[in-house]
Amino acid sequence: MDFQLKYQINQRYLTKPSKRRSGFPMSPGVKFLVAHDTGNPGSTASGNVNWYEDTRDEQSASAHLFVDDRQILECVPAFTSSVPEKAWHVRYSMPTDDQLFGHDANDAAIGVEYCFGGRIDDDEAYRKYVWVLAYACFRYDLDPSNSIVGHFFLDPRRRTDPVTGLAHSRRTYEQLLRDVVFEFEECTTDDTINPPPGPMVIEQTGEAVTTVRLNIRRGAPNTRSPVHETVPRGTVLSFIGFVEDGQSVNGNSVWYADNNGNFFWSGGVIV
Ligand SMILES: [Zn+2]
Repeated sequence: MDFQLKYQINQRYLTKPSKRRSGFPMSPGVKFLVAHDTGNPGSTASGNVNWYEDTRDEQSASAHLFVDDRQILECVPAFTSSVPEKAWHVRYSMPTDDQLFGHDANDAAIGVEYCFGGRIDDDEAYRKYVWVLAYACFRYDLDPSNSIVGHFFLDPRRRTDPVTGLAHSRRTYEQLLRDVVFEFEECTTDDTINPPPGPMVIEQTGEAVTTVRLNIRRGAPNTRSPVHETVPRGTVLSFIGFVEDGQSVNGNSVWYADNNGNFFWSGGVIV
């Protein structure tokens, strides 16, 4: 499965080790995502990361990504390094993350901050925010319909994000969750809409003579495939190859393939 890379993810890592960036790898890896907003209308992704860096040893609060209308900026490794690192974006004492996901957010969740308000184009920032949440689901094999939680939900007495930031651009948290699922579906190439790959035919041309009345099967080397034609004993059939892992009939799973996409069982012919 592929994912459409609509946007670039820029990186400007905080200095480590510092209070904001420990450098510790996430453990047990990325299991869910926490949606935040900056709570500070008009503050940009770049401005927030600069402030994080300037104050890196003053506070341990951090997040992985800031998203505004201009860019998606990663300041604690989430995607662009081989090992995602921990960031400090939800208090450890909060129980809901453990209850929902079996882990503390700081150990197992990517924190994504929505930048809004002021001179930021909220609609464009929102598009990038939705996309990067969907992309994180793709990268870490998460179900977009149940792997994202808002900070307010985990820490309801202290936090309102990203509800308040989204409201700034006339959107709701519920809409965000729906839009991420929609974006995920739009950006993924769904293999299942294409027919599954056919059986692997080993090329070898030749002729076979039927020793029994034999069914020629359409599409796949097994007796559940539709019968293309039934031929009498003694019929000469051309083949272009064979498969070794067709349906096993009387212990024999070799079937010959003709050049029309049909198959016949090798046990019914002599070559
Ligand atoms: Zn937050």
